[in-house]
Amino acid sequence: MSTTVQRVAIVTGGARGIGAATAVRLAREGRAVAVLDLDEAACKDTVDRITADGGTALAVGCDVSDTERVSAAVERVAAELGPPVVLVNNAGVLRDNLLFKMSDDDWDTVMNVHLRGAFLVSRACQKHMVDTGFGRVVNLSSSSALGNRGQANYAAAKAGLQGFTKTLAKELGKFGITANAVAPGFIVTDMTAQTAARVGMGFEDFQKAAADRIPVQRVGRPEDIANAVAFFTGEDAGFVSGQVLYVAGGPLN
Ligand code: NAP
Repeated sequence: MSTTVQRVAIVTGGARGIGAATAVRLAREGRAVAVLDLDEAACKDTVDRITADGGTALAVGCDVSDTERVSAAVERVAAELGPPVVLVNNAGVLRDNLLFKMSDDDWDTVMNVHLRGAFLVSRACQKHMVDTGFGRVVNLSSSSALGNRGQANYAAAKAGLQGFTKTLAKELGKFGITANAVAPGFIVTDMTAQTAARVGMGFEDFQKAAADRIPVQRVGRPEDIANAVAFFTGEDAGFVSGQVLYVAGGPLN
């Protein structure tokens, strides 16, 4: 890292899956990392992995869709670690259903966690980034942004995050802040295990079927996404902004 200041990162949904791998990776890149998730105790594993590696990490319990809690969590990070200037909006949930069966709650829950959550945490962090004259925001989109059966809510939220990302890039660029989106394909996590269960397949068979459709002939790992996030959040990535990178083992048609 070219800076002498240890930058502080927040990774939402950092207790497991892609968020945990990203938190660990950003700590290896020299960031102090706030591992933020619904349940503070659930962040312990990720924090322990980082500290065992010689890094700095803090567990923060917070529901990203709650304005007051987000505000308090970001201020706690600023007080205990320093101004958060790297933000990975990764927290996510699924409420899959075909449109005719999708409830109001299925729709609102997904919008609240993905879209409202990314909005609230970004808004709370931006003043720290503006004051510092440096910022990196990465939003987790998805290949589902292109449309996916059973995911009208999730696809809309993930496509919405792409518009949100490009708007932040335009508004905040003059303050040294970049915003980009990473759109994963199939990544092995609890989320894809949940999808396998919904469609009535064993997780191993589900992964094998997915790998057969992917050009590189394997499913993704959380570390594949962490790698892309590390690039976008790097000190030297300041001229890359407003982009959406599909990380899916091949192009998507
Ligand atoms: P995951 O294993 O289900 O982890 C998601 C994390 O987000 C969980 O720790 C969860 O906490 C947390 N979370 C949920 N609601 C929250 C809230 N309101 N406030 C704070 N934290 C909350 O998911 P993942 O597969 O790692 O996915 C991470 C991101 O990548 C998501 O945005 C997802 O949509 C996106 N993505 C994943 C894939 C994939 O194939 N896995 C593909 C494309 C995009 P709890 O455990 O307490 O619920």
